[in-house]
Amino acid sequence: MNVFTIRQVMKGYSDELALSSISFSVQQGEFLAIVGPSGSGKTTLLNILGGLMNPDSGKVLFKDEEMEGPDIRLVPGYEEIKVVRQDLDLRLKISVEDNIRDALLGYNDDFKEEKTAILLDFFSLTPFRKKRPSQLSGGQRQRLVIARAMASEPEVLLLDEPFSALDVINSSLALSEIKSLAAETNTTVVLVTHQPQDALQADRILVLQEGEVQQLGRVEEIYQTPASVEVAKLFGPINIFSPEEFQQHFPDQPLNSKSIVGVRPEDIIFEQKPGASLIVEDVTFMGSHYLLKLKSTFGKEIMTYDFQKRCEEGDQVSIELKNDHGMSF
Ligand code: ADP
Ligand code: MG
Repeated sequence: MNVFTIRQVMKGYSDELALSSISFSVQQGEFLAIVGPSGSGKTTLLNILGGLMNPDSGKVLFKDEEMEGPDIRLVPGYEEIKVVRQDLDLRLKISVEDNIRDALLGYNDDFKEEKTAILLDFFSLTPFRKKRPSQLSGGQRQRLVIARAMASEPEVLLLDEPFSALDVINSSLALSEIKSLAAETNTTVVLVTHQPQDALQADRILVLQEGEVQQLGRVEEIYQTPASVEVAKLFGPINIFSPEEFQQHFPDQPLNSKSIVGVRPEDIIFEQKPGASLIVEDVTFMGSHYLLKLKSTFGKEIMTYDFQKRCEEGDQVSIELKNDHGMSF
């Protein structure tokens, strides 16, 4: 079942179009990430999904029924849809556990106790349960915000850059917690983020740019067959070759004379070969591997990965494409 069906939605502010003719749907239980640069319309789109804003034109269905925006509902929004924004929705004068208990509505005390304990445990907050929100670290506070949102058992969780204040490790941890809890409870999650790495944890990604859908697809599809060079660059390092450069460096490959070709560093295989036409210019330790910057006799800089530290600066290498894996644009 579709939780949301969005058809040709447009929304503008005074002189400016924030969303132009957006169409897509979100399935029940799905985890969709919306990625795009600042100002691309992400928050506007999320507010429309939350029933907090009316589109200027187009249709938004929530579970097959036309959504009632703030012009119709006295209290804007839906009980089944929880919107979590950057500003923290916490009660500052009560403890961590009371913040969660407070969000559990309509249960008896025993069940509230049990459910609070489960959520504290799930979001690794049990040791801090007696503290006030102000005594938590940024990461713990953000996990509390999410635990509170999940306590109300929404059918849909809409998250607007909830981790923008967190470091990469904490934000990725919080995300994986949300993901597994949402899967357990069949909660639909729409996550807005400007961090492409966060989006890779989703089932599908919608890439928004200047109010338009650039691409919508499964995570692997967006990574492996991005619709444009811009989308490709969002999700990781990539080598970009003009048709001429591509032929110079991969003469064995069939040439599509018109396209620019993108090749991810992991799709380039190298071999050490004295007298070969590329030189290792730089070796950078990246933890699980080394990033090699190669310079070819044609003057092109090419990135690839070395998983065994086979190379040193100054080595001569030749390259090949792995599985013919180039992306044409
Ligand atoms: P994002 O969340 O991706 O940063 P927004 O949806 O907040 O994007 O904004 C999209 C565009 O609409 C931007 O150009 C922004 O300046 C404009 N905008 C957003 N909110 C308002 C508003 N309340 N009034 C006027 N312009 C707005
Ligand atoms: Mg925003």
